[in-house]
Amino acid sequence: MAEPLDPMNELRTAIRDLIEWANLERETSPVIECDPALLGELERCLSTRLKSAVAKAPTQTASTEERRSRAAAALAAIAERVARCTRCPLHRTRHRTVPGQGNPAPELMFIGEGPGEEEDRQGLAFVGPAGQLLTRLIHRMGLTREDVFIANIVKCRPTINDAGVRDRPPTDEEMAACIPYLLEQIEVLQPKVIVCLGATALYGLLHLKGISRLRGHWQEFRGIPVMPTYHPSYLLRSGGDQRARYWEVWDDMVQVLQRLGRPVPDVGRRRPSAPGPG
Ligand code: SF4
Repeated sequence: MAEPLDPMNELRTAIRDLIEWANLERETSPVIECDPALLGELERCLSTRLKSAVAKAPTQTASTEERRSRAAAALAAIAERVARCTRCPLHRTRHRTVPGQGNPAPELMFIGEGPGEEEDRQGLAFVGPAGQLLTRLIHRMGLTREDVFIANIVKCRPTINDAGVRDRPPTDEEMAACIPYLLEQIEVLQPKVIVCLGATALYGLLHLKGISRLRGHWQEFRGIPVMPTYHPSYLLRSGGDQRARYWEVWDDMVQVLQRLGRPVPDVGRRRPSAPGPG
Protein backbone atom coordinates (compact mmCIF):
# COMPACT_ATOMS: atom_id res chain seq x y z
CA MET A 1 0.00 0.00 0.00
CA ALA A 2 1.30 3.49 -0.88
CA GLU A 3 2.61 5.69 1.95
CA PRO A 4 0.13 8.41 2.97
CA LEU A 5 1.04 11.69 1.27
CA ASP A 6 2.19 14.49 3.58
CA PRO A 7 1.78 17.91 1.92
CA MET A 8 4.50 19.38 4.16
CA ASN A 9 6.96 16.74 2.99
CA GLU A 10 5.94 17.46 -0.58
CA LEU A 11 6.63 21.16 0.00
CA ARG A 12 10.03 20.40 1.55
CA THR A 13 10.90 18.21 -1.44
CA ALA A 14 9.79 20.94 -3.83
CA ILE A 15 11.97 23.52 -2.09
CA ARG A 16 14.94 21.12 -2.02
CA ASP A 17 14.48 20.48 -5.75
CA LEU A 18 14.36 24.20 -6.47
CA ILE A 19 17.54 24.89 -4.51
CA GLU A 20 19.32 22.10 -6.31
CA TRP A 21 18.11 23.40 -9.65
CA ALA A 22 19.04 26.99 -8.77
CA ASN A 23 22.54 25.88 -7.77
CA LEU A 24 22.95 24.18 -11.12
CA GLU A 25 21.71 27.31 -12.86
CA ARG A 26 24.11 29.51 -10.86
CA GLU A 27 27.03 27.76 -12.51
CA THR A 28 25.96 29.28 -15.81
CA SER A 29 24.16 32.42 -14.61
CA PRO A 30 25.62 34.70 -11.89
CA VAL A 31 22.42 36.80 -11.63
CA ILE A 32 19.70 34.21 -11.36
CA GLU A 33 17.57 36.42 -9.03
CA CYS A 34 17.01 38.80 -11.91
CA ASP A 35 16.34 36.27 -14.61
CA PRO A 36 12.57 36.38 -15.31
CA ALA A 37 12.65 33.08 -17.18
CA LEU A 38 14.29 31.41 -14.21
CA LEU A 39 11.81 32.91 -11.75
CA GLY A 40 8.96 31.77 -13.99
CA GLU A 41 10.37 28.29 -14.02
CA LEU A 42 10.72 28.27 -10.22
CA GLU A 43 7.13 29.35 -9.85
CA ARG A 44 5.89 26.71 -12.29
CA CYS A 45 7.84 24.00 -10.53
CA LEU A 46 6.59 24.96 -7.08
CA SER A 47 3.01 25.29 -8.23
CA THR A 48 3.08 21.86 -9.95
CA ARG A 49 4.45 20.22 -6.81
CA LEU A 50 1.92 21.88 -4.53
CA LYS A 51 -0.99 21.17 -6.87
CA SER A 52 0.00 17.53 -6.88
CA ALA A 53 0.22 17.47 -3.06
CA VAL A 54 -3.15 19.17 -2.60
CA ALA A 55 -4.79 17.00 -5.25
CA LYS A 56 -3.56 13.82 -3.62
CA ALA A 57 -4.26 14.78 0.03
CA PRO A 58 -8.08 14.55 -0.23
CA THR A 59 -7.63 11.08 -1.74
CA GLN A 60 -6.33 9.91 1.64
CA THR A 61 -9.42 11.29 3.42
CA ALA A 62 -11.64 9.75 0.79
CA SER A 63 -10.04 6.36 1.30
CA THR A 64 -10.66 6.52 5.08
CA GLU A 65 -14.26 7.44 4.38
CA GLU A 66 -14.45 4.70 1.79
CA ARG A 67 -13.19 2.17 4.34
CA ARG A 68 -15.81 3.31 6.88
CA SER A 69 -18.64 3.07 4.40
CA ARG A 70 -17.46 -0.34 3.14
CA ALA A 71 -17.31 -1.56 6.77
CA ALA A 72 -20.76 -0.12 7.51
CA ALA A 73 -22.20 -1.92 4.46
CA ALA A 74 -20.53 -5.20 5.48
CA LEU A 75 -21.88 -4.88 9.04
CA ALA A 76 -25.37 -4.16 7.70
CA ALA A 77 -25.17 -7.28 5.52
CA ILE A 78 -24.20 -9.37 8.57
CA ALA A 79 -27.08 -7.84 10.56
CA GLU A 80 -29.51 -8.75 7.77
CA ARG A 81 -28.39 -12.37 7.89
CA VAL A 82 -28.65 -12.36 11.69
CA ALA A 83 -32.22 -11.04 11.42
CA ARG A 84 -33.20 -14.09 9.34
CA CYS A 85 -31.11 -16.60 11.31
CA THR A 86 -32.64 -19.82 12.63
CA ARG A 87 -29.38 -21.65 13.38
CA CYS A 88 -30.22 -22.22 17.05
CA PRO A 89 -33.42 -22.50 19.13
CA LEU A 90 -33.09 -18.92 20.44
CA HIS A 91 -34.73 -17.64 17.26
CA ARG A 92 -38.07 -19.05 18.45
CA THR A 93 -38.38 -16.77 21.46
CA ARG A 94 -36.62 -13.60 20.34
CA HIS A 95 -38.53 -10.41 19.57
CA ARG A 96 -35.63 -8.67 17.87
CA THR A 97 -32.15 -9.82 16.92
CA VAL A 98 -29.33 -7.73 18.42
CA PRO A 99 -26.36 -7.75 16.04
CA GLY A 100 -24.49 -4.94 17.81
CA GLN A 101 -23.90 -1.35 16.87
CA GLY A 102 -21.43 1.53 16.88
CA ASN A 103 -18.49 2.90 14.95
CA PRO A 104 -17.81 0.79 11.81
CA ALA A 105 -14.07 1.54 12.10
CA PRO A 106 -13.49 1.60 15.86
CA GLU A 107 -10.30 1.49 17.87
CA LEU A 108 -12.17 -0.28 20.64
CA MET A 109 -14.76 -3.07 20.61
CA PHE A 110 -16.74 -4.32 23.62
CA ILE A 111 -18.12 -7.86 23.59
CA GLY A 112 -20.74 -8.97 26.07
CA GLU A 113 -22.74 -12.12 26.64
CA GLY A 114 -26.13 -11.75 24.97
CA PRO A 115 -29.17 -9.51 24.80
CA GLY A 116 -31.39 -9.00 27.86
CA GLU A 117 -35.02 -7.96 27.96
CA GLU A 118 -34.54 -4.34 26.94
CA GLU A 119 -32.06 -5.25 24.18
CA ASP A 120 -34.50 -7.87 22.85
CA ARG A 121 -37.22 -5.20 22.78
CA GLN A 122 -35.10 -2.50 21.08
CA GLY A 123 -32.78 -4.63 18.92
CA LEU A 124 -29.78 -2.76 20.35
CA ALA A 125 -26.87 -4.05 22.44
CA PHE A 126 -26.36 -2.85 26.03
CA VAL A 127 -29.32 -0.51 26.41
CA GLY A 128 -30.71 -1.93 29.69
CA PRO A 129 -29.40 -1.13 33.19
CA ALA A 130 -26.06 -2.88 32.50
CA GLY A 131 -25.80 -0.92 29.27
CA GLN A 132 -26.31 2.34 31.13
CA LEU A 133 -23.46 1.44 33.44
CA LEU A 134 -21.28 0.56 30.43
CA THR A 135 -22.17 3.91 28.85
CA ARG A 136 -21.01 5.76 31.99
CA LEU A 137 -17.78 3.78 31.96
CA ILE A 138 -17.19 4.63 28.28
CA HIS A 139 -17.79 8.32 29.03
CA ARG A 140 -15.39 8.15 31.97
CA MET A 141 -12.81 6.82 29.51
CA GLY A 142 -13.22 10.02 27.49
CA LEU A 143 -15.13 8.25 24.71
CA THR A 144 -18.73 7.98 23.52
CA ARG A 145 -20.73 4.95 22.43
CA GLU A 146 -20.40 6.26 18.87
CA ASP A 147 -16.60 5.90 19.13
CA VAL A 148 -16.72 2.19 19.92
CA PHE A 149 -18.51 -0.91 18.66
CA ILE A 150 -20.59 -2.97 21.09
CA ALA A 151 -21.69 -6.55 20.36
CA ASN A 152 -22.48 -9.84 22.08
CA ILE A 153 -21.48 -13.48 21.78
CA VAL A 154 -25.08 -14.42 20.87
CA LYS A 155 -27.45 -12.19 18.96
CA CYS A 156 -30.76 -13.44 20.41
CA ARG A 157 -31.91 -13.33 24.04
CA PRO A 158 -31.49 -16.56 26.05
CA THR A 159 -34.02 -16.96 28.87
CA ILE A 160 -34.72 -19.61 31.49
CA ASN A 161 -36.96 -22.31 29.99
CA ASP A 162 -37.24 -20.03 26.99
CA ALA A 163 -40.10 -18.42 28.89
CA GLY A 164 -38.88 -14.90 28.22
CA VAL A 165 -38.85 -14.05 31.91
CA ARG A 166 -35.34 -14.46 33.36
CA ASP A 167 -32.09 -14.20 31.44
CA ARG A 168 -29.56 -17.03 31.43
CA PRO A 169 -26.14 -17.47 29.83
CA PRO A 170 -26.19 -19.01 26.35
CA THR A 171 -25.40 -22.73 26.07
CA ASP A 172 -22.25 -23.99 24.34
CA GLU A 173 -24.38 -25.04 21.35
CA GLU A 174 -26.00 -21.61 21.08
CA MET A 175 -22.60 -19.92 21.28
CA ALA A 176 -21.12 -22.26 18.68
CA ALA A 177 -24.03 -21.55 16.33
CA CYS A 178 -23.76 -17.77 16.70
CA ILE A 179 -20.03 -17.11 17.01
CA PRO A 180 -19.37 -17.03 13.23
CA TYR A 181 -21.35 -13.76 13.05
CA LEU A 182 -19.15 -12.19 15.72
CA LEU A 183 -15.99 -13.40 14.00
CA GLU A 184 -17.16 -11.83 10.76
CA GLN A 185 -17.84 -8.57 12.60
CA ILE A 186 -14.35 -8.55 14.13
CA GLU A 187 -12.89 -9.21 10.69
CA VAL A 188 -14.73 -6.18 9.30
CA LEU A 189 -14.13 -3.89 12.29
CA GLN A 190 -10.43 -4.67 12.84
CA PRO A 191 -10.43 -3.00 16.29
CA LYS A 192 -7.10 -2.20 17.93
CA VAL A 193 -8.34 -3.57 21.26
CA ILE A 194 -11.23 -5.85 22.30
CA VAL A 195 -12.72 -5.80 25.78
CA CYS A 196 -14.46 -9.02 26.84
CA LEU A 197 -17.18 -8.18 29.35
CA GLY A 198 -17.63 -11.12 31.68
CA ALA A 199 -17.04 -14.84 31.80
CA THR A 200 -19.30 -15.78 28.87
CA ALA A 201 -17.64 -13.34 26.49
CA LEU A 202 -14.20 -14.57 27.56
CA TYR A 203 -15.21 -18.20 27.10
CA GLY A 204 -17.14 -17.58 23.88
CA LEU A 205 -14.28 -15.74 22.19
CA LEU A 206 -11.18 -17.38 23.67
CA HIS A 207 -12.41 -20.58 25.36
CA LEU A 208 -10.86 -19.36 28.60
CA LYS A 209 -12.44 -19.82 32.02
CA GLY A 210 -11.80 -17.83 35.21
CA ILE A 211 -12.80 -14.20 34.74
CA SER A 212 -11.80 -13.25 38.32
CA ARG A 213 -8.31 -14.65 37.73
CA LEU A 214 -7.88 -13.39 34.16
CA ARG A 215 -9.44 -9.93 34.38
CA GLY A 216 -6.82 -7.25 33.99
CA HIS A 217 -4.47 -9.62 32.12
CA TRP A 218 -3.99 -9.14 28.39
CA GLN A 219 -4.99 -11.99 26.08
CA GLU A 220 -4.95 -12.09 22.29
CA PHE A 221 -7.40 -12.99 19.55
CA ARG A 222 -6.04 -13.27 15.99
CA GLY A 223 -3.38 -10.68 16.78
CA ILE A 224 -5.79 -8.27 18.50
CA PRO A 225 -5.09 -7.54 22.21
CA VAL A 226 -8.03 -8.61 24.38
CA MET A 227 -8.70 -7.25 27.88
CA PRO A 228 -11.05 -9.39 29.98
CA THR A 229 -13.03 -7.59 32.67
CA TYR A 230 -16.23 -8.01 34.66
CA HIS A 231 -19.63 -7.72 32.99
CA PRO A 232 -21.51 -4.57 34.06
CA SER A 233 -24.49 -6.68 35.20
CA TYR A 234 -22.13 -8.49 37.60
CA LEU A 235 -21.21 -5.11 39.07
CA LEU A 236 -24.89 -4.31 39.51
CA ARG A 237 -25.37 -7.60 41.37
CA SER A 238 -22.25 -7.22 43.53
CA GLY A 239 -24.02 -5.65 46.51
CA GLY A 240 -21.54 -4.21 48.99
CA ASP A 241 -18.61 -5.09 46.73
CA GLN A 242 -20.02 -3.07 43.85
CA ARG A 243 -17.70 -0.10 44.32
CA ALA A 244 -14.55 -2.26 44.68
CA ARG A 245 -15.46 -4.31 41.57
CA TYR A 246 -16.17 -1.13 39.64
CA TRP A 247 -12.73 0.27 40.34
CA GLU A 248 -11.18 -3.04 39.28
CA VAL A 249 -12.96 -2.63 35.97
CA TRP A 250 -11.70 0.95 35.80
CA ASP A 251 -8.13 -0.28 36.32
CA ASP A 252 -8.64 -2.63 33.36
CA MET A 253 -9.94 0.26 31.25
CA VAL A 254 -6.86 2.31 32.19
CA GLN A 255 -4.76 -0.46 30.64
CA VAL A 256 -6.95 -0.31 27.55
CA LEU A 257 -6.54 3.46 27.22
CA GLN A 258 -2.78 3.14 27.65
CA ARG A 259 -2.65 0.41 24.99
CA LEU A 260 -4.56 2.69 22.62
CA GLY A 261 -2.20 5.57 23.41
CA ARG A 262 -5.12 7.63 24.71
CA PRO A 263 -5.01 9.98 27.69
CA VAL A 264 -6.09 8.46 31.00
CA PRO A 265 -8.56 10.72 32.82
CA ASP A 266 -7.34 11.50 36.31
CA VAL A 267 -9.97 9.91 38.56
CA GLY A 268 -7.52 8.39 41.05
CA ARG A 269 -7.66 11.20 43.58
CA ARG A 270 -11.47 11.10 43.54
CA ARG A 271 -11.55 7.37 44.22
CA PRO A 272 -12.15 7.34 47.95
CA SER A 273 -15.29 9.45 47.62
CA ALA A 274 -16.29 8.34 44.11
CA PRO A 275 -19.94 7.45 43.74
CA GLY A 276 -19.01 4.01 42.42
CA PRO A 277 -20.74 2.91 39.23
CA GLY A 278 -23.14 5.85 39.31
FE1 SF4 B 1 -28.99 -17.36 14.96
FE2 SF4 B 1 -27.34 -16.46 16.82
FE3 SF4 B 1 -29.94 -15.98 17.05
FE4 SF4 B 1 -29.02 -18.44 17.41
S1 SF4 B 1 -28.55 -16.66 18.68
S2 SF4 B 1 -30.80 -17.86 16.16
S3 SF4 B 1 -27.32 -18.50 15.93
S4 SF4 B 1 -28.57 -15.21 15.45
